[in-house]
Amino acid sequence: GAGASTGQLAGETDVAAGEATDLFTKFDSTIAMRTNLLASGVDDPFSLVMEQVLSPTRAICNGRETILLGTYNYMGMTFDPDVIAAGTQALADFGSGTTGSRVLNGTYQGHKECEDALREFYDMEHAMVFSTGYQANLGIISTVAGKGDYVVLDIDSHASIWDGCAMGNAEIVPFKHNDIEAMEKRLKRIPEGAGKLVVLEGVYSMLGDIAPLKEMVKVAKDNGAMVLVDEAHSMGFIGEHGRGVVEDAGVLDDVDFIIGTFSKSVGTVGGFCVSNHPKFEILRLVCRPYVFTASLPPSVVATAATSIRKLMTATEKRAHLWKNSGRLHGGLKSLGFELGTDEPQSAIVAVLMPDLERGAAMWSALLQEGLYVNLARPPATPANMTLLRCSLCAEHSDEEVGEILDMFERAGKAVGII
Ligand code: PMP
Repeated sequence: GAGASTGQLAGETDVAAGEATDLFTKFDSTIAMRTNLLASGVDDPFSLVMEQVLSPTRAICNGRETILLGTYNYMGMTFDPDVIAAGTQALADFGSGTTGSRVLNGTYQGHKECEDALREFYDMEHAMVFSTGYQANLGIISTVAGKGDYVVLDIDSHASIWDGCAMGNAEIVPFKHNDIEAMEKRLKRIPEGAGKLVVLEGVYSMLGDIAPLKEMVKVAKDNGAMVLVDEAHSMGFIGEHGRGVVEDAGVLDDVDFIIGTFSKSVGTVGGFCVSNHPKFEILRLVCRPYVFTASLPPSVVATAATSIRKLMTATEKRAHLWKNSGRLHGGLKSLGFELGTDEPQSAIVAVLMPDLERGAAMWSALLQEGLYVNLARPPATPANMTLLRCSLCAEHSDEEVGEILDMFERAGKAVGII
């Protein structure tokens, strides 16, 4: 039969003239993976339902109170009373949705205030809010780097970055993860005079490791490239003011674009790009994922703006989140788990699993204990790894981190991982 790779030829080989081809044949290997996994008796890791959400760190799943260790709610802003109040007020004052594009009827006062909050947060000239972070990458990358331009990017980049490259039709030049020399070699091979965009992430979300931005941004600039950094997983947390790894590395003024999202530390949904480029505002007219979609609802931009302003001064929360990340990382390491990084580098601690079957069994055992983590598998993960990704929240208490470690110890022994 036609496998995933030969599916496109099915019309010529297997199917008689005039007979319809099944366009779903290409999903057969994924269907088989899912069927096999469920046959092993584990809970389905890809269809968990949060029946009630009690706080940034607790929810009811399968009727049981569960500690959440697999959300992107790093700063725990989702139930902040000021954030809730701002959203409620905007819902009452401006209605449930804008029913239009940012460039037509979809720019409300709240969208401007949200962009003001971002410009202040990053101390930058321009801010553009998109409906998701995915669309921010898709839009900025595809619009800035077009046919004939080159995008040099880390091989472990997020799907939204790859999709932005594909949509823009630029030449795509990947380099080995976090490898400064490999990046430099690729840059030097690009023909003289061609447009160059280097795309990096502050924190890589699968292993929770950070990029050597100080060195990389310098190499990019020395080779005449513009630089975009996706700070989705560091905003609000890393850097003195929470501006991300770019701030921590001291290269905030050297990057051309920062991409971010409201779906992680900010605690709602939406995406953005901030920049000091003098011509930045023209993007509002030429960036298709900005123009051809509806703008965010008023309640969402109001919660985002309030949350962003509070994150500017959230020094104590940042300190507690670093403490949580250090304790979980150290605790899991001493229990004998293999981790994605030697030292804690972010709020993400990735626990390496030997294979998908044991990863799913461990995920399931943790859920039985009352702990939710993210199960990540290829193609989202690098090097075919199966990972249990733990992401900490500034609202996890010291006691909760202790409970989490006890749960990992019991589940790890039961499944035979440690
Ligand atoms: N960039 C990175 C690095 C991400 O991890 C994500 C989401 N996981 C996004 C962008 C997209 O963000 P959003 O959820 O706002 O679409």
